[in-house]
This record gives sequence, structure tokens and C-alpha cells, in this order.
Amino acid sequence: MPFPDTTIEQWREFPGALSDNDEINFRFGSLVVRSAGKLVLVDTGMHAADGILLEDLRRKGVDRNEIELVVITHIHPDHVGWNLLDGKPTFPKARYLVPRKDWDYWTDPVVMQNAQHVATQVLPLADLNVLDLIEDEYQVTDELTTVPTPGHTPGHISIVVSSAGEQAYILGDVAHHIAQAHYTDWCPIFDSDADLARATRHAVLDKLESEGTLVSAGHFPDPGFGRFVRLAGRRQWQEI
Ligand SMILES: [Zn+2]
Repeated sequence: MPFPDTTIEQWREFPGALSDNDEINFRFGSLVVRSAGKLVLVDTGMHAADGILLEDLRRKGVDRNEIELVVITHIHPDHVGWNLLDGKPTFPKARYLVPRKDWDYWTDPVVMQNAQHVATQVLPLADLNVLDLIEDEYQVTDELTTVPTPGHTPGHISIVVSSAGEQAYILGDVAHHIAQAHYTDWCPIFDSDADLARATRHAVLDKLESEGTLVSAGHFPDPGFGRFVRLAGRRQWQEI
């Protein structure tokens, strides 16, 4: 169980949350945004033999050669898995934007000993000259701005989309499951600093709920678009 201090009964409050073996179902989603005439890919997903990112892009009419910016929310293996293909950038035209605080943390030799994905999918970006380290609130395009949302990892970022007078929010791993809309204190074992992750999650979800912002959440059920709303006295994820 990746969420300590939670019970199966609590998980059963969320239909479809558990597999037949009582394991939690997670999606591993990336997002493509068209902004300011550019194609932007947020996170590159899990590199597995059955990984479907490239096939999924093709099916949706996105040519990987046209991606100009790849924004990495944080350096976990399921978010950087398709950065490189046979040692070359999978997205040959793209600059790869990586939060500097995560880079500093994950490229520490001691940390890297237990994080093989850094050596294979992240470190080579520097040698290949496709890496830009970003800090604070970074303007990706006129419409996309990163915001630090630390705790899950030291340099974790989310992205605010501002377009045509409306806002949307790309959540990253501020939350991993729709259950955390209500059980906002729940921290998965993947949160590197649970207290900070919890504080960040409360602050972000409170704001998104009060402002009714459209949210894209990569680990929530496909396609992961919705809003945090209050229904029957509980904060809930409402898919759109
Ligand atoms: Zn993560």
C-alpha cells in the first residue's frame, strides 16, 4: 500500500480506486499543450516495454518532431521515462526544462546510486545541450508559468495556464489520487518530505477549489481533466 495509515475501507469509498487485488489503480499521464504557436509536452511518462506515450501522441495527431518544449514537473522515473530514446532526445527539436532544485537534488552522486533513471534519462540532457534549468516562477510561454510546489520532491513544480481570461492548472504530483481531494492529509510513500507535501497539497487544493479552476492531473483517471468541488460536505474531484 503506497499510502501508509489508510484503510481498505477508506479506499472503497472511491469506486474504481482499487484493482481486484486491492491495489490502487494509477494512471501515468503526460500532457501536450499548444501555446503561443508552440507544442509543449509536460512530463514524458514511464519508460516501460509497454509504454504507450509515442503511440498515444501519434494517435492524437502529435508529431514528436514538432514538440518545442518539454517541461518536467519533477525527476521521478514515471515523469522522465521517455526523455531519451537510444541516448538521443526523443523530441529532437525540444528544449527540456527541468526545475533546478530537483536537478541539484537528484544529480547528487549519493542520491543517484538509488535512482538509475537519472543517469539514463536526465543527466545526458546536459551533455546533449538540450537542458535548461528553471527556477521560481518561470515563464514557459506567454500563457504558461511554472510555480514551485515542493514536498513531493524538493524542486517539484506545477504549471499555471492563463489564456483568454481563464486559468487552468497542471497539478503534477501535488496529488496522486482523487481520494486526496477529501483525504488531503494522505501522503504516499513517494512524497520525499511528507509534511511539506501535505502543506503544499492543502494550499493548492484549497485555492483550486475556491477559484473553481480547471485542473489537469496526470495520475487521476483518464483523461485527468476536472475540478475540485464541494459536494455533500466533502471536497471531491469532478471530472469534466
Ligand atoms: Zn512523482
